[in-house]
Amino acid sequence: MPSYVILDKCDGCKALDKTACQYICPNDLMVLNKDLMKAYNREPELCWECYNCVKICPVQAIEVRGYADFVPMGATVSPMRGSDSIMWTVKFRNGTLKRFKFPIRTTEEGTAVPDGGFAEGDGDINSPMLFTEPESVRADFFKLNQ
Ligand code: SF4
Ligand code: SF4
Repeated sequence: MPSYVILDKCDGCKALDKTACQYICPNDLMVLNKDLMKAYNREPELCWECYNCVKICPVQAIEVRGYADFVPMGATVSPMRGSDSIMWTVKFRNGTLKRFKFPIRTTEEGTAVPDGGFAEGDGDINSPMLFTEPESVRADFFKLNQ
């Protein structure tokens, strides 16, 4: 599903020579309407959904309609960039929020642990806390992969 710009939030990168989303898109899809000072994706069907524009936009004005297995219907996923990491916020349609901070840290045993956002013990990638699909689907998945 392609990226789209939330027009109310986009400020056209304050009239810089090139907007951040134009600079980062590997497929040269983002353009700026200079009359409106709003960016848009000129060829949505060519969008790779790489999230680069989503991550780089300084005012969180770009979103991608994620696939249902990653972003359940009605949910949103949005990044907040820091100087050395990105905090992703997933908002489920029932209002539940989950946050994931990357890069992840590695324990002394070499286990990758998402840093931040989780309650104690939720760093395990198999933790039920991280499942987003119904239990029935998970059961089928595990049956298929045994
Ligand atoms: Fe607008 Fe964000 Fe693109 Fe800048 S990076 S032009 S604020 S959508
Ligand atoms: Fe370009 Fe990636 Fe943004 Fe699509 S998601 S418009 S390919 S930067």
